[in-house]
Amino acid sequence: MRRKNKIKFSSKKRKKGLDVKKCALLVVVLVVLIAVGFKGVTATTAFIEEKRQEKIEMQKKAEAERLEEERKRKEEEEAKKKMVGVTHEAKQYTYDARKIQEKLANYDYSNNGKKMVFLTFDDGSSTTVTPEILKALKENDVRATFFVTGENIERGGQKAKDLIKESFEYGNAIANHSYTHDYKVLYPGRTLNLDNFLADFNKTDELLKEILGPYFSTRVIRCPGGHMSWKGMDQLDNYLDENNMASIDWNALIADAEGKKKNAQELLDYAINTSQGKDIVVLLMHDTYGKEETAKALPTIIKYFKDNGYEFKTLS
Ligand SMILES: [Zn+2]
Repeated sequence: MRRKNKIKFSSKKRKKGLDVKKCALLVVVLVVLIAVGFKGVTATTAFIEEKRQEKIEMQKKAEAERLEEERKRKEEEEAKKKMVGVTHEAKQYTYDARKIQEKLANYDYSNNGKKMVFLTFDDGSSTTVTPEILKALKENDVRATFFVTGENIERGGQKAKDLIKESFEYGNAIANHSYTHDYKVLYPGRTLNLDNFLADFNKTDELLKEILGPYFSTRVIRCPGGHMSWKGMDQLDNYLDENNMASIDWNALIADAEGKKKNAQELLDYAINTSQGKDIVVLLMHDTYGKEETAKALPTIIKYFKDNGYEFKTLS
């Protein structure tokens, strides 16, 4: 009985041992499978994670680029808003008009031997002479300052307005020389009437905004007849100081608006004689109707200043 039992027991045991082996094998297989599977899953997860990170990085980069572009665009816009008298791009040709105003007021035309000439044209735009002046400037790659009057712009219609736009875009400075140019309105009894004066200049300022865009402004003016010619100008000086503006007269001229009518050679001679020995030259010329001879003389005037080592600058 015991033996039988024993045998029974041992056969049971053998059977059980077999099951254990099978189970162990199964467990091993399962563990291996799970491990391989797990590894696979881990690898897949890592791959997905990697891709996800890459996508995030790319999105971050794109966002940074977008922000940088946005920043540059805003900066450009702000710079344009601040443009005074010249375009943002033409700032390289321009000079601080307040400094020149001070130099002229003190009759101090020295600049440590560094020569600068400011070509200035008054009373435009005209549809006859201004195009010739612009042509000469472009052919010689120099810039000038145009002191325009509102009435003459209106007289020239759309063509005169287009010329101002072309001139401005080329890099010239556009400055204000009143609307009416009428001495009786601006200086009745030869004495400044500040209210009339400001109203008149504002009218041209509005017109220039209409032509060159709402951000255009100029802080440079030239008084018709010249600042030095009138009484009561202290009021204007105070106004200009308070508003960081400048009134610019001249210290050399070609005399194309006074005395007898001169030919191109005589105009050049006048420029040479009146600018002699000056580092800083503010040359008065006119681009209004009837000044064809000025346009004719301009290339030789430019050549003279180039040959004598002058840098061409604008006032703003
Ligand atoms: Zn004038």
